[in-house]
Amino acid sequence: MTRRLLILFALVAGLVAACGLTWSIAWQRGIDILRHNAAVRVDRTANALKSTLERYESLPYLLAEHPFVQDVLVSPGAPNVERANRYLEDLNRHARATASYIIQTNGTCIAASNWHEPESFVGAGYQFRPYFVDAVKGGVGRFFGIGTVSHDPGYYISQPVRRDGRTVGVAVVKLNLEWFQGADAAEPLIVTDDHGVIFLSSMPAWKYHTVRPLSGAVADSIFQTRQYAQQEIPPLPVTIERTLEDDAQIVRVGGGRYAPRYLASRRAMGEPDWQLITLASVDPVDADARNDAIVVGFGYVTLCLLAFYWRMRRARVREMMRSRELLQRAYAELNQRVAERTADLSQANEQLKKEVSERTRAEQELRSAHDELIQASKLAALGQMAAGITHELNQPLAALRGFSDNTRVLLERGDQELARENLEAIAALTERMGKITNQLKLFVGRARPRSARAPLARALRNVLALLQKRLAGVEVTLTVVDAETGTRECFDPSAEHPALVANCDDLRLEQVLINLLGNALDATAGLAPPRIEIEIEAADATLAISVRDNGPGIPDDILPRLFEPFFTTKEMGHGLGLGLAISSSIARDAGGSLAARNAPDGGAVFVLTLRRARVQAIDPLTAGS
Ligand code: ADP
Repeated sequence: MTRRLLILFALVAGLVAACGLTWSIAWQRGIDILRHNAAVRVDRTANALKSTLERYESLPYLLAEHPFVQDVLVSPGAPNVERANRYLEDLNRHARATASYIIQTNGTCIAASNWHEPESFVGAGYQFRPYFVDAVKGGVGRFFGIGTVSHDPGYYISQPVRRDGRTVGVAVVKLNLEWFQGADAAEPLIVTDDHGVIFLSSMPAWKYHTVRPLSGAVADSIFQTRQYAQQEIPPLPVTIERTLEDDAQIVRVGGGRYAPRYLASRRAMGEPDWQLITLASVDPVDADARNDAIVVGFGYVTLCLLAFYWRMRRARVREMMRSRELLQRAYAELNQRVAERTADLSQANEQLKKEVSERTRAEQELRSAHDELIQASKLAALGQMAAGITHELNQPLAALRGFSDNTRVLLERGDQELARENLEAIAALTERMGKITNQLKLFVGRARPRSARAPLARALRNVLALLQKRLAGVEVTLTVVDAETGTRECFDPSAEHPALVANCDDLRLEQVLINLLGNALDATAGLAPPRIEIEIEAADATLAISVRDNGPGIPDDILPRLFEPFFTTKEMGHGLGLGLAISSSIARDAGGSLAARNAPDGGAVFVLTLRRARVQAIDPLTAGS
């Protein structure tokens, strides 16, 4: 802040100094030119005046020498006067003087060139006039004054008129110098007499003023000689501001601060002892100097502004360069970070790819293990079933053998009736055996095409038929519940229920149900009475099949492990521990779930939830199987 103030102060000081210096130089130069021009002018004017005066200088002398003039002074009779008058008139006209006249030694004008004019000088007394006094004394009289008769100002040159070595009178020539003063207010010209009284001036108001105060004696003498017609001679209000040389001064004419200033150039005329002064207005010099100072001031301010602009620009450029450098650095840093991050990401990507491929491999392995497990479970169930079937078939086979032996004997005996009865029994036995093998076919699953739609009634029907033997003596109840209304009713699996279709492979659904019912049968074995409740809860989008038994339930510690593969609590040879694991994965594959819990009033509950299939026309091929 302080630095800025200082700079501002220095700039303002510089501006003032530059303007001041310019003004001073320009003014001095202007004054020099003005002085030179004024000097030329004053010299020229002074020379012009001098040559005019000199031209008339000898005229009174010639007059004084003329016999007519001398004659009239010696004997002032009428013929001489008239002759002299005419001579003076003629001479005056030719010489272009204002007036020429002759004065007697007593001061009375005896003859004049204007003798016939009303304001004729003839008869007028001039004894008080200095030019008369000087000439009478024998010298040359030179005098400027206002005419006592004509009241016109004029320059008087006089010579004594001598006859026989005696002064008999005075010859005078009056010149009007008014033409000389001109009327140029811009470049005034004044002529002062030996007392400093202005008698010629281009400024009429300045006339008959003094440029320096008159002493009492001088004022008296002017009054006595009636030089300026008895009028008052006040001083001209002139203030000398500066003296450049002896004959050149800067003056202010008139009162007040705003009075015009002039360069006054003075020349002494010599004889007569006059001063010619030319005045040249200093205003143009002042104006020029002021204009120059203003131009320089503007230039200075412009330069300052340019310098300021340049400095700002340089600062901006520097700032821009710095910003660019920062940006470049940031860009490089970013690039580096991106490269590092990309490397990290590539590495992570590689890692992920590796993990994905490992997982894919693991998944494939799992899937194949799963398939293998299913297969193993099937084989295990098949083994169990084979044992059951073998047991089931052995009995009818033995009966068949017995019946056939009996029939042969009966036929040999001719007992047709009994033989026929035996054959009917054989037929019944084979039908029963067919049913058993048919169930086996069903389980293996390749007996009919698979379907992703599993009607619940058919699946339950097949499973119940398959487990018919084991279910003998077990109280099985089937219920269907509408989840929306809560209405419950008995479920008859032998009837068609086209609305209750699950989105699942039908054989797999049967496999799950066989597992659940098999486990329930295992759990309730030996109980009196064993009871299994199958409940179908039909919701809008799902079908939940729960299998509940009245067995011992599932101990809390093994509940979380139920669905682990190979987890079993059964004795060797009775269970592989795969049933629930496979059932759960089948449910998951079908987009459903399998959950286990204990019922509040005892027994285990397994709930298989599947997505409900959209209702469609019943498949005539599968509906009856
Ligand atoms: P497995 O029947 O071969 O043992 P599962 O996976 O079908 O294999 O069953 C695992 C275990 O779950 C069984 O060993 C048994 O302890 C238990 N379990 C299954 N169902 C029931 C049930 N209804 N009541 C009590 N425990 C059961």
